[in-house]
Amino acid sequence: MDDCCQVSEQGNDPTFCPTCQQRGKNVPLITLKSLLTPSALSTIDPSSAYSFCSNPACEVVYFSGEQVFNKDAIKVPVYQKNEGSEVPVCYCFGWTRQKLVEAIQDEEKPAQHISEQVKVNRCGCEVNNPQGSCCLGNVTAFVQGIEQSL
Ligand SMILES: [Zn+2]
Repeated sequence: MDDCCQVSEQGNDPTFCPTCQQRGKNVPLITLKSLLTPSALSTIDPSSAYSFCSNPACEVVYFSGEQVFNKDAIKVPVYQKNEGSEVPVCYCFGWTRQKLVEAIQDEEKPAQHISEQVKVNRCGCEVNNPQGSCCLGNVTAFVQGIEQSL
């Protein structure tokens, strides 16, 4: 195995939230730069790798080997950690839980609408969504949940 592969394997080492011990997911630095409050942002180490904790029961949103950032350090409510109806599921295009419920009741297809935006590269998940990656999986799961409850 050559050096470049070893480096990329190290970059993908599983990381575990220091508070809940659940496995985190790597997030790009630009996500923290976009979504941390000014006081939290002024403490980041840009040479660190940060991960996102998606455990709803855990207060931690981002962590590195040396730092944790809780919900109060993030400028927006975090979908995985806040059950409010005004919380976005799709941050880029403003689909809150409430808007998705209303769209489904009106027999619209919001997941299809969002996926069309994604296909033509209009989404900016890495700077809008605290998880730093595409929301479509969350939207699809949420919509299925609504449809099953109707
Ligand atoms: Zn956690």
